[in-house]
Amino acid sequence: MTAAASTRPYNFSAGPAAIPEEVLRLAAAEMLDWHGSGMSVMEMSHRGKEFISIYEQAEADLRELLAVPAQFRILFMQGGGIAENAIVPLNLSRGISADFVVTGSWSQKSLKEARKYCTANVAASTEAEGYITLPDPAGWQLASDAAYVHICSNETIHGVEYQTLPDLKALGCQAPLVIDFSSHVASRPVDWSRVGLAFGGAQKNLGPAGVTLVVVREDLLGHALPACPSAFDYKTVADNRSMYNTPPTWAIYVAGLTFQWLKQQGGVAAMERRNIAKSRLLYDFIDHSQFYVNKVARDCRSRMNVPFFLRDESRNEAFLAGAKARGLLQLKGHKSVGGMRASIYNAMPIAGVQALVDHMQEFERTQS
Ligand SMILES: *Cc1c(COP(=O)(O)O)cnc(C)c1O
Repeated sequence: MTAAASTRPYNFSAGPAAIPEEVLRLAAAEMLDWHGSGMSVMEMSHRGKEFISIYEQAEADLRELLAVPAQFRILFMQGGGIAENAIVPLNLSRGISADFVVTGSWSQKSLKEARKYCTANVAASTEAEGYITLPDPAGWQLASDAAYVHICSNETIHGVEYQTLPDLKALGCQAPLVIDFSSHVASRPVDWSRVGLAFGGAQKNLGPAGVTLVVVREDLLGHALPACPSAFDYKTVADNRSMYNTPPTWAIYVAGLTFQWLKQQGGVAAMERRNIAKSRLLYDFIDHSQFYVNKVARDCRSRMNVPFFLRDESRNEAFLAGAKARGLLQLKGHKSVGGMRASIYNAMPIAGVQALVDHMQEFERTQS
C-alpha cells in the first residue's frame, strides 16, 4: 500500500469512523476486478477460492496483530456490538447469572439487554459520579454463581478507558472476563490471559460497518441456550469458520486491508505509541486551557474518544462551524453528553490532532 498525500478533511467521527486513505484507495482500485479474477469482492462466492484466500489472510493478520493465543477462536459475525449484548448471554450465561461493571452508556446497554436472558447483577457502577471514573476492581461485588463478568473496556460516549484489564483471578473470581472492545480494538495490546471473550464492531477502528469481531476462548464454546439462533451460536460459527451463513464479505475484505495497513505501520505496539502521543497532545492542551474542559479522571481517560466542553456552551455552534471550515469534521458530542467529542482512532494521524488543537487555540483567541 502506497502512502497518499492527503487533501481529505480530518474526520473525528465516533463511528462509523475514518478509514486509512491508503485502504480506501486500494479498495477503489480493486473494486471492479479483484486481482485479475474479473470480479469485485462483493460479487464473489464466499466459498470460492478467491474469497477464502481473503478470509484466511484477514484472520491470520488479525491473529498476528492482536497476538491472539492458539486456544482462542476468531469469529467474524454480524449484528454489531449491540447484537453481541444478546449473543454473549445467550452463549455464556447458561441461563444463570452474569456480573456487569457499569461505567458508561455502553456497559449500561449491555446490562439491560442481558436481563432478557439471565440474572444480570451490577457488580459496580460509576453512574452516580456521571461516568467520569472507573471503579477499583478490589471493590467489585462479584456474584459466586456469575457465569461471566462483563466490562466495556473503552466507553466510546463517556471517554473512559481501562488502562489495564482487571485480573479476575487475583480477585478470587474464576468466571471469564468479557470485554466490549469495539472502540479501542487494535489501538493497544490485549492481555489475553485476563480475557475469556472480546467483541467489537469493525466500524470504529478496523474498517467498515457490517462485521463484528469476536475472539473467544475455546472452552467457552458449546454452552449456548437452546433458544440461541444457530447463526449466533459461537460453536456453530466457529465450526463453520464464520461461514454458517453468508459472512459480510465486503466488510471482511476492507477490514483485511486495514489489518495489512496496521502491519505496515508497525503493528499494535506502534499504534499504541502513536495513540499515546495523539491523546496526550489533545488532553494537555485542554488541561492548560481556561476555555475548554474534559471532566474525566486523568487515569481513566480514553486515548480514542476525547469528550470536551467549551466552558461557554453558547459558542458550540460557532466552534463546530469554524472546525468544519478548516476541514475538521464530526466533532459534535454525543447527544447524551453534549459538548464536543474528538474520536482519534488509529486512522487519525497526529497531524489531524494538531490541526484540531490549532483550531481550538485560534477559536479561543478570537472569542476572548
Ligand atoms: C459502537 C459501539 C457499540 C455498538 O456497535 P453497533 O455496531 O452499533 O452494534 C457497542 N459498544 C461500544 C463500546 C461501541 O463503541
